[in-house]
Amino acid sequence: MNWSLIRKPVFGIMLWNWRSEKVRYDVVIIGGAIVGSSIAYYLREEGFSGSIALVERDPQFAHAATTLSCASIRQQFSIPENIRLSQFTLKLFRRLTEEFGADADIGFREGGYLILAGDNGLPILKANHQTQMAEGADIVLEDAEALVRRFPWLSAEGITAGAYGRTGEGWFDAHAMLMLFRKALRENKIDFITAGVTGIERQGDCVTGVNLDNGERLDAGIVVNAAGPNAGKVSAMAGLVLPVEPRKRSVFIFEAREKYDDMPLLVDPSGIYVRPEGSVYITGGAEPGEGDSPADPGDFEPDWPLFEEVIWPVLATRIPAFEAIKPTRAWAGHYDYNTLDQNAVIGPHPQVGNFLFANGFSGHGLQQAPAVGKALAELIVHGVYRTVDCSAFGYERVAEGRAFRELNVI
Ligand SMILES: Cc1cc2nc3c(=O)[nH]c(=O)nc-3n(C[C@H](O)[C@H](O)[C@H](O)COP(=O)(O)OP(=O)(O)OC[C@H]3O[C@@H](n4cnc5c(N)ncnc54)[C@H](O)[C@@H]3O)c2cc1C
Repeated sequence: MNWSLIRKPVFGIMLWNWRSEKVRYDVVIIGGAIVGSSIAYYLREEGFSGSIALVERDPQFAHAATTLSCASIRQQFSIPENIRLSQFTLKLFRRLTEEFGADADIGFREGGYLILAGDNGLPILKANHQTQMAEGADIVLEDAEALVRRFPWLSAEGITAGAYGRTGEGWFDAHAMLMLFRKALRENKIDFITAGVTGIERQGDCVTGVNLDNGERLDAGIVVNAAGPNAGKVSAMAGLVLPVEPRKRSVFIFEAREKYDDMPLLVDPSGIYVRPEGSVYITGGAEPGEGDSPADPGDFEPDWPLFEEVIWPVLATRIPAFEAIKPTRAWAGHYDYNTLDQNAVIGPHPQVGNFLFANGFSGHGLQQAPAVGKALAELIVHGVYRTVDCSAFGYERVAEGRAFRELNVI
C-alpha cells in the first residue's frame, strides 16, 4: 500500500483510523539521523524500489549523537575494517558535489590527526601505523624531536612518538552532512514518519512490524535498527540483546590568544583531544571509557569539573600557550557505546534475519555512516556486501561474546 495515498485527507478530515489501520513498508528504519538517513539514501542508490519508512522521534535531532558529535574523520584506527569504512566516506567527501549537487558543502577541513604516545603506548602506535600504511593511509610516524620541529607549539614532555595524518583526516560540519542526506531523501520517495517506536512485533524468527507512540502500527518486511545510543533498548523491543548503551561525553569550547592554523586534531596519551574549530578550539575525551557507566538518557549536562580538574591541566602541559585560555561554552552528547568491544555491529541478526543492526559505533559512527549505509543497502538489495565488506562487524560475535576490539577509541 502506498503511504502517500492513504494519508490523503478526504473532505478535510483524515479518513483512516490510525490505531486499526495497518500500513505496510518493505523497510522500516528506526532512527532518522545520519546512519538511518544514509541507509535510506543508499537503498535508493542501489535501485531499491520498495517502500521505505524512516521513523524519527526527534526531527530537530536535538539529542542525536550525529548533531552533538565532534564531526571528525580519521584513518588512524587499529583494525583495517574501520579504516576501510572511513576511507569510503573520505572518497565521498572528495566528490561531494558530484554526488549531491554543485552547492553541496560540509566544510571539510583536512587538518589531520596527531596521535601521541609515551614509551608505554609506543608498541601499539607502531602496530597501528603499520596497519594504516597497509591500507594506504597517509600517516607519518615521527619521534618527539621531529614532532616539535613540525609543530613548534607542542611540548614533547612524556612523548616518545606521534602518528600524524598528512591527508585524509580532519573535521567537517555534521549538521550540514546530515542535511545533505535528508534533502536527497526528500526527492527519493522516502516516507518520513515523526514518531517514537515503542514496540517491535515478532513472530518466531521474523519481525513483522513496529508500534509507534501515536498508536499507529507499521507492518514491516525488514526492520533496521539505526537508533544510535538508544539501540540497545530498540533491540530489546524485538527480544534481542545488543550491548549498546548511551555514554555521556562532554565537549568544551575555549578561546586562546594564539591561533595555530596548522594544528591537527591532537590526541594526548591521556586520551584528551583538542582541535581548532574556526577561531576557537574544542576539547574533551577525559572520560574513563570501559569503567564508565551508562548515561541517564535525559542527561545532557556538560561535566564542567572534568574540564577544570582534568582536561585543562593536560592541555597546559601539552601546549604551554594553553595555560591561559578562556572556556566559553560546552555541550554533552551520548556515545552509542558498544560495551563488548567498542566497535560497530552491522548486519542481520543470525536467527531473526529481517532485523538488521547498524549500531554501536562508540564515537566513530558519523564518519562511518555513509559506508555502513552503502553496505547495508547492498546486503538488502543484492544479498551480499559488494563495496565494503562488513561481515567482521556481524552480530555473530555478540552472540558468542567474542570481542572484535578497536583500540583507538577517542
Ligand atoms: C560528543 C560526541 C563526539 C563524537 N565525535 C565523533 C567524531 O568526531 N567522529 C565520528 O565519526 N563520530 C563521532 N561521534 C559518534 C557519532 O556521533 C555517532 O556514532 C553517530 O552520529 C551515530 O549516528 P546514528 O544515526 O546511529 O545515531 P544518532 O545520531 O544518535 O541518531 C539516532 C536517532 O534515532 C532516534 N531514535 C532513537 N530511538 C528511537 C525510537 N525508539 N523511535 C524513533 N526514533 C528513535 C533518535 O531520536 C536519533 O535521532 C561522536 C559522538 C558524540 C556524542
